[in-house]
Amino acid sequence: MKKLAIILPCYNEEEILSQTIKTMSALLAKMIKTGKISKESLLCFVNDGSRDKSWDIIKKACLKNPNISAVNLSKNFGHQGAILAGMYEVSADVYVTIDADLQDNPNCIPEMLKNINSGCDIVYGVRDSRQTDSFFKRTTAVIYYRLLKLLGVNIVYNHADFRMMTRRAVETLKQFPERNLFLRAIIPLLGFKSATVYYDRTARQAGETKYPLSKMMALAWNGVSNFSIIPLRLVTFLGFAICFLSSVFLCYVVYRWSIKGTIVGWASLVTIITIFSGVQLLSLGIIGEYLAKVFVEVKKRPLFIVDEKINLS
Ligand code: UDP
Ligand code: MG
Repeated sequence: MKKLAIILPCYNEEEILSQTIKTMSALLAKMIKTGKISKESLLCFVNDGSRDKSWDIIKKACLKNPNISAVNLSKNFGHQGAILAGMYEVSADVYVTIDADLQDNPNCIPEMLKNINSGCDIVYGVRDSRQTDSFFKRTTAVIYYRLLKLLGVNIVYNHADFRMMTRRAVETLKQFPERNLFLRAIIPLLGFKSATVYYDRTARQAGETKYPLSKMMALAWNGVSNFSIIPLRLVTFLGFAICFLSSVFLCYVVYRWSIKGTIVGWASLVTIITIFSGVQLLSLGIIGEYLAKVFVEVKKRPLFIVDEKINLS
């Protein structure tokens, strides 16, 4: 029987944690009782530098139930870092990562395990519908997934970070030393046999999203710039195209000069200067973004720092 670790990243989740602990420990107990997983299986709450009472609630739960463990990070490292901390700090045969707000359906976990038992190393939880998301989130998500595909980034459509992985897959993940984390594009790169399990994502039952637009955009840009060099290549193509157009324009200028008609309009000149300076700045910006990524990667700073662990050896 396999030891299952359910990893739950938490950041300021005091409103929902008690409910989550109750639901998830009931599920774990049921799976142990029905012989699906070993009795050493556990929940692992990763407290990602919460400033509310989340850590106190988690600590209390750990005292009451030995199947609940916890990792307290020294500060907020972000959702992706918290997931990684859970997977790297817990020793188990199978890992599942799920948001602490229960928006992803935990009842899919037994079905995910079935796929693992039949030989898969990775099982992706995929949202069936996005009815509970706002119109903005829904449309931007669709555009984003299409854009990633266009840029050659391989990611599972409508899959966030609800997934199950075997120990072998997690060990292999450790070979990816990236600092700019975008797990949902890294995991498919592992290449092991995978499966998908569909579920309806429900609305948050309590608390607010910890992913404001700025964080969401940073994650989205990580997804593009960590896995695709096409934006940089576009800049090069743009450069070629502009060089070509400029040489054509130059021919025209020489022609005007030769017929002594050089007192031409001011408007066209200003338009050209404005457009080209915009394009130049944008190109520089894109190159700068990639340079910034290299800057972060070469420093090799840790992705998370553990302050304390409970019920974990
Ligand atoms: N989260 C985290 N660190 C952060 C932000 C979020 O650990 O800096 C956790 C959060 O507690 C939740 C999960 O990541 O369990 C997903 O966040 P949220 O539900 O706010 O995102 P949404 O579902 O709105 O995209
Ligand atoms: Mg959520």
